[in-house]
Amino acid sequence: MVPHAVSDILAFRFPKRMEDLHGHLISYLRVSITDRCNERCHYCMPEEEQDWLAREEVLSYEEILRTVRVAALLGVKKIRVTGGEPLTRRNVLWFVDQLCEIDGIDDVGISTNGTLLGKTTKDGRTYAKALKDAGVRSVNISLDTLDAKAYHRTTGRDLLNAAIGGIDAARDAGIEKIKINTVLMRNRNENDLWDLVDFAHDRDLLLRFIELMPVSTTEVLEDDQFFTVNDARKLLEFRLGELSFRPDFRTNGPARYYERGNGQLLGFIGAMSDFHFCETCNKLRLTCEGKLRPCLGSHMEFDLRKVLRDPQMSDADIAGFFRDVVARKPKEHDFRNAYEPGRRMIAIGG
Ligand code: SAM
Ligand code: SF4
Repeated sequence: MVPHAVSDILAFRFPKRMEDLHGHLISYLRVSITDRCNERCHYCMPEEEQDWLAREEVLSYEEILRTVRVAALLGVKKIRVTGGEPLTRRNVLWFVDQLCEIDGIDDVGISTNGTLLGKTTKDGRTYAKALKDAGVRSVNISLDTLDAKAYHRTTGRDLLNAAIGGIDAARDAGIEKIKINTVLMRNRNENDLWDLVDFAHDRDLLLRFIELMPVSTTEVLEDDQFFTVNDARKLLEFRLGELSFRPDFRTNGPARYYERGNGQLLGFIGAMSDFHFCETCNKLRLTCEGKLRPCLGSHMEFDLRKVLRDPQMSDADIAGFFRDVVARKPKEHDFRNAYEPGRRMIAIGG
């Protein structure tokens, strides 16, 4: 079988690490397990485009677990499970349990809108507790506002209380790292940022502000919607006093952190305005239908599902596939270059 020859060599004779041509060492895989969601955030899934993938198009849990096992052999240490809303997929707790067992994976996190974290499982635990028991160390929860009307306007649903309940369930469960992610939207939540800062402070959570990206639609870049992280920081300083840059504080990503006088840290993630954004990128993305993407802000994606579903293809072929994709990872994203969205964020996995 000819295809094996090359990738077997690539997988086993070279060091068990993946580095791209620009010096990015890949240790982080974001895995989307569904394109479905119980919310309808306008920046993520524009109303007019809501066709879901058929079940057979979505990778099975077994296919994802096999992929992660191979990725772990190639130096991936951290997995973030995302979607769509990952907690809407059936048997997600079983899947996460299996994921946490994989040798070499030492950090499993979830990105969620939080609305299902407080839901109870058959054995009476909350989803948050079940995730913690499985070994999940970090949960990133999206929350753009604490105002019920604004929440509905952004997400299309009245689930603010469920989201807050989910955040509290994550705290009660004792999850190590809980981050709140707030997308910055001019004319939508710019007056709600202070309340979010207080909310995070009261609960001792790390809050990060995220600039809109034109992943699903370019409308988000229009002046009446787009709000840079610098403008948000200046606005916050009106009430909070000076925020001092803390270059020494980093999480596993592109956020830049600033500190308030009272010691609270606030993160700012500026994909559009921060020209250093891609320098420390260590990520690959796996979409729920099995496309491996070297960069969120590039149309490049490669069909791993075809390899996974070909009985002739071995784990070594999957490893070779990973290396080929990493070799094509761009130096930086394309969002600033008149990028035209090809797919909705919900289909890629944020
Ligand atoms: N449903 C989960 C959630 O909302 O956290 C996980 C998936 S969601 C696609 C992951 C993250 O992407 C969320 O924090 C969301 O706010 C962010 N996101 C979605 N579309 C975005 C966009 N156009 N620009 C910036 N962030 C976006
Ligand atoms: Fe759903 Fe998250 Fe997208 Fe909102 S951002 S529509 S919660 S996947």
